[in-house]
Amino acid sequence: MLIRYGELSTKGKNRKQFVTKLAQNVKRAMQDLPEVRIHGERDRMYIILNGADYQLAEERLKPIFGIQSFSPAVRVNLDLEEVKAAALALVQDAHEENGTFKVAARRSHREFPLDSNEINQEIGAHVLQNIEDLTVNVKNPDVKLTIDVRKEGVFLSCRTILGAAGLPVGSSGRAMLMLSGGIDSPVAGYLAQKRGVEIEAVHFHSPPYTSEQAKQKAIDLAAKLAKYSGQVQMHIVPFTEIQEVIKQQIPESVIMTVTRRMMLRITDELRRKRNGLAIVNGESLGQVASQTLESMLAINAVTATPIIRPVVSMDKNEIIQIAQKIDTYNLSVQPFEDCCTIFTPPSPKTKPKLDKIEHYESFTDFDALITKALDNIETISVNIAETEQVKDEFADLF
Ligand code: ATP
Ligand code: MG
Repeated sequence: MLIRYGELSTKGKNRKQFVTKLAQNVKRAMQDLPEVRIHGERDRMYIILNGADYQLAEERLKPIFGIQSFSPAVRVNLDLEEVKAAALALVQDAHEENGTFKVAARRSHREFPLDSNEINQEIGAHVLQNIEDLTVNVKNPDVKLTIDVRKEGVFLSCRTILGAAGLPVGSSGRAMLMLSGGIDSPVAGYLAQKRGVEIEAVHFHSPPYTSEQAKQKAIDLAAKLAKYSGQVQMHIVPFTEIQEVIKQQIPESVIMTVTRRMMLRITDELRRKRNGLAIVNGESLGQVASQTLESMLAINAVTATPIIRPVVSMDKNEIIQIAQKIDTYNLSVQPFEDCCTIFTPPSPKTKPKLDKIEHYESFTDFDALITKALDNIETISVNIAETEQVKDEFADLF
């Protein structure tokens, strides 16, 4: 398999780091295929399958960020007869009745006796002679056979599959994703991963007000995101006591704002401990009372850490489309109570004032409560969703 990097190839000096990260991610995605070998080079990566199932390898590569496109390729020796035979076999396999084709050769290894034009002619003629209903179309061929002559061999390929694009997960550093059970935050996490962020999920859980199913739902959502990074660390924060104290101490109209501020403080503390560089959430401007600019200002005031809001300017429908694409939507719409809704009044303030909020908070020792919550966090490693694994096992059988 020949992998093209796309955007990361513009990263100058950092390129090596990006390629290394991508190679690690590819390796992890193929870890149950021990025969596979990976060679990351400056301008492309080769995956030598060594007999591993091609279809399975293709499925594994598709979600990996940092890959612009990839092609299944055949490698033969630097020998014209071998190239001819391989070319014919590939086109025979790929062409459809009365189809058209073209050969696009490139010779970076100058010692090969034919230049790229000569290869095009020689191989084109050989293929045409041997497949009856085939014609040449240089502008818009049905099958484009690329032949890449390199020192290490000749690579032939006639299929290009689009990759997931983006940057390799981990190449932009680590951030904490505030993951609820809703539609927006998993999408936000996915979009951050797409730009190379390694995410750790933080989920606030308030038993007995929120159920075991609500927690499981968040874990299942994290498992969907693990598809893009191999696994996701998930921190489950016990939030009941803080919510109860807020309910007792804070005026009803700003309970939601204070609740959000506490969530953000805890997330930021965790970020610091885990060497994260940012916080990601699923806020979308104007969607609900906590997501007006006034609310964001009052909530955000507890930290100077960058907060990345990948869906901030998207409409709900746009977010839903992505949620469907990444297969989180059906999970997200399951009806389990989220901790944020349990004590919030029917009409929370949409324009909370920061000085008032700080004043209300000042009568309670929230620091101690936050420390206690942090001490009792449950951290788990969430692996790629089980349904995905079952699919892979079936692929093995065939
Ligand atoms: P979502 O669909 O992501 O739940 P939402 O539209 O329901 O978003 P809110 O409930 O206001 O919006 O939450 C805004 C953001 O706050 C969420 O996107 C998420 O990042 C964070 N958040 C909310 N509840 C939790 C929770 N229980 N645990 C962790 N983060 C949460
Ligand atoms: Mg929510």
